[in-house]
Amino acid sequence: EDPFFAGRSALVTGSGKGIGRAITKQLHILGAQVYAISRTQSDLESLASECPGILTYCLDLSDWKKTEDVVKTLPPLDCLVNNAGVTSLESFLETKAESFERVMKTNVQSVLNVSQVVAKHMIKRGAHGSIVNVSSVASTRALNLHTSYCASKAALDSLTRSMALELGPHKIRVNSVNPTVVMTDMGKLAWSDPDKSEPILNRIPLGKFVEVEDVVNAILFLLSDRSSMINGVHLPIEGGLFVS
Ligand code: NDP
Repeated sequence: EDPFFAGRSALVTGSGKGIGRAITKQLHILGAQVYAISRTQSDLESLASECPGILTYCLDLSDWKKTEDVVKTLPPLDCLVNNAGVTSLESFLETKAESFERVMKTNVQSVLNVSQVVAKHMIKRGAHGSIVNVSSVASTRALNLHTSYCASKAALDSLTRSMALELGPHKIRVNSVNPTVVMTDMGKLAWSDPDKSEPILNRIPLGKFVEVEDVVNAILFLLSDRSSMINGVHLPIEGGLFVS
């Protein structure tokens, strides 16, 4: 257990796989009561059996009304991790309205929705909350075949700043983590081909991609009171990619 997280409550979105699953498990181990939202029931069932006591909710976050209804029923929260995200691999010229909309709905609009409900609750209770949005280096860099994704993460960083500005006076801090490639299912989809990944890898001074654990550690730091004066930042997790 951890003195900060023990007895606190946290909501994690996209907790079925990858980074979301890892942060959910770690928060549970540290003693937090965790609420987990994801889209595939079997992922949530295995997660619940690995983390007895966590509560899971199977829903598609791109459904505004259903998401709002579910999040409104949750008990008081101290922490929120907006992690769920999707991508769509299309060139700029071939990017379709439907895929752009699908990516924006999960990666941006659902963060607005979930955070509004959670923050209103926190403000009512006078709680000191912390919210972390899982963004990406793609918010400030163009990546081939990632037009919708890059636009969504740029919008997410902007949302993070608006939230930090307006929620700060209520003692709610809002920050983002911005990793480069992590070899989760999503990472593999885009970067398993070395012809695509090596040019990025070659520019990372530390010479490797990001591990899920690296992202989890940064999220834990931003959620906890060890970062109590940090608000509105986008924390790069990229082994120095941006200085190269
Ligand atoms: P994964 O695809 O491995 O996991 C994403 C999880 O989110 C899955 O459990 C997925 O459920 C869930 N999810 C996605 N959309 C929805 C939705 N609409 N409603 C409910 N649940 C949803 O991705 P990662 O762990 O790699 O990514 C997590 C976050 O990290 C994302 O925001 C991503 O953009 C970001 N990121 C990832 C990087 C990488 O290289 N992997 C790099 C930088 C940032 P299901 O599988 O059932 O659809």
